[in-house]
This record gives sequence, structure tokens and C-alpha cells, in this order.
Amino acid sequence: MAAPGLRLGAERLFAMPAVLELLSRSNSTSQAFAEVLRLPKQQLRKLLYPLQEVERFLAPDSRQDLHLRIFDPSPEDIARADNVFTATKGNRIDYVSSAVRIDHAPDLPRPEVCFIGRSNVGKSSLIKALFSLAPEVEVRVSKKPGHTKKMNFFKVGKHFTVVDMPGYGYRAPEDFVDMVETYLKERRNLKRTFLLVDSVVGIQKTDNIAIEMCEEFALPYVIVLTKIDKSSKGHLLKQVLQIQKFVNTKTQGCFPQLFPVSSVTFSGIHLLRSFIASVTGNLD
Ligand code: GDP
Repeated sequence: MAAPGLRLGAERLFAMPAVLELLSRSNSTSQAFAEVLRLPKQQLRKLLYPLQEVERFLAPDSRQDLHLRIFDPSPEDIARADNVFTATKGNRIDYVSSAVRIDHAPDLPRPEVCFIGRSNVGKSSLIKALFSLAPEVEVRVSKKPGHTKKMNFFKVGKHFTVVDMPGYGYRAPEDFVDMVETYLKERRNLKRTFLLVDSVVGIQKTDNIAIEMCEEFALPYVIVLTKIDKSSKGHLLKQVLQIQKFVNTKTQGCFPQLFPVSSVTFSGIHLLRSFIASVTGNLD
């Protein structure tokens, strides 16, 4: 446990640099995250809370449409989530198996989260970034045309399972919809679906098919905006506002807060790890 009094939301964190220093020296904080906490304030904010960074460029009356702080973990919780994602002897993080059909999927009792998105949206890069604290994990990618794409299962200690679903859209296997649809409909331990949208191009037609599936099965899902390092601030802001409006007006099951990420700069990765840890009951 970290010292009491560290459970502060993002805003207070930035107002109290001494808290960051205290947390960075706490025994429960990994060395990697301690180094993160020592970054200059603005760089740290951009890395941990990219959406709040975008907020600074918004007119005050459009801020209320953005649900920036529904999920606002304390730095202590972010550090705890990083520990969940860190491979150790007692917390093995491994590839389990792959399946092309739901009845071949491993029968794992743990809570599960899955990642879906168009081919090339940055899904394998994101999963690799999430697993960067477990460098032994091999995130398998089969991109050769004609190769059957599979659902890949990874276990994160005794905590939860991460499922990498085959990409849809261009060159998607014909049975993609059957595979993903059946999984989404039937997987009992599925706690959250992460639907990846490329921040450069926004929501595409094929993304709507995935959104409709999540809505139809009344699944709780989350939109993750990928490759934010590729967009200018203005472009990112425009995409965030458009997608937020879509989420607010056209969806039921989508979590109102968007999660922008970059697998290159790692911006948003810690927050996403915390959210996954939270929805699988590991930050309670
Ligand atoms: P997948 O088909 O969805 O698994 O996509 P990949 O992870 O293979 O990424 C597709 C392409 O986008 C690759 O060339 C990646 O290097 C690039 N890419 C993925 N994520 C990012 C990111 O966050 N930033 C940038 N600049 N490029 C990315």
C-alpha cells in the first residue's frame, strides 16, 4: 500500500507536485512508473490524461459536452494498474491460445476484455503497448493475405484475459462477422469491448457495423482513438468532438468518455491500463 492521502484525482495531482514525488518514492510504485511521475508537468499530463490535454484548447461552452473525468483514477490507482500489467514470477502474463470459433475458445473463468477494430487501426500496436511491462509476451499478428485470422487470448496473471479479435474491413475473412458476432453474443465473462477508431480518419462505415453489433447485444463498450500522435491538435479536437457527439446522441452502451491513445508516444496507455484493471474488478 502507498502512504495514505495519495488518492487524488488528476487535477489535484498537478496542483501538488510533492504528492507526485511521494508516490514516485513509494514502495508500491514500480521503477518504470516512478520515472514517469518525474516527467515535467505538461509532459506528464499529456502522457497520462491526453483528453484533458485536448480540453485546454476548447471553448468553455463546448467543454461540458466532453465527458473528461467520468473515469479519473488517482495516480496511486494508475500505479496499481501498472503493477497488474507487470509480469513477475507471481503474475504471469502469457499468450494462452488462438481460436477461429467460439467453441474452440479457451474456457477461462477470469473476467475478459476484447479489442476490436478495422485492419490497420493500430490494434496489435496498442496491445503490444499495453503489454510493454511484460516484454516476453508475443502479440501474434497474422497479416498475410489469405491467412485465417484468429481470436488470440492472453492471460494477465489471475486478474483477467485480453482477447485480440481479428481486424475487420479490408481483407477481413468472410466469416469475420460470424466469429466476432458469436463471441460478443455468447461470451459470458466478457466485461468490456474496446472498439478502436483511427483518430486520423474517424468513424468509418465498417466501424458502424461493429458499433451496431455492440448496441444490438447491449454490450458495454468503449471507443479508443488510436494514433493520436499522427493528428494535429486541431484535427484531433475536431475528431474528438464529432465522435463525442455521436456517442452522446446515437449510442446506449458506449462509455461516455473517449480514450485517446498513441502506441508510439505511449500517451493514454497508462489510463487505458487503469480502466481495464477497473472494469475487471482489479482496482476495487
Ligand atoms: P492492426 O492491423 O490494427 O493490428 O494495426 P497495426 O498495429 O499493425 O498498425 C498498423 C500501422 O499503423 C502500422 O504501420 C503501425 O506502425 C502504425 N501505428 C499503429 N499504432 C500507431 C500509433 O499510435 N501511432 C502511429 N504514428 N502509428 C501507429
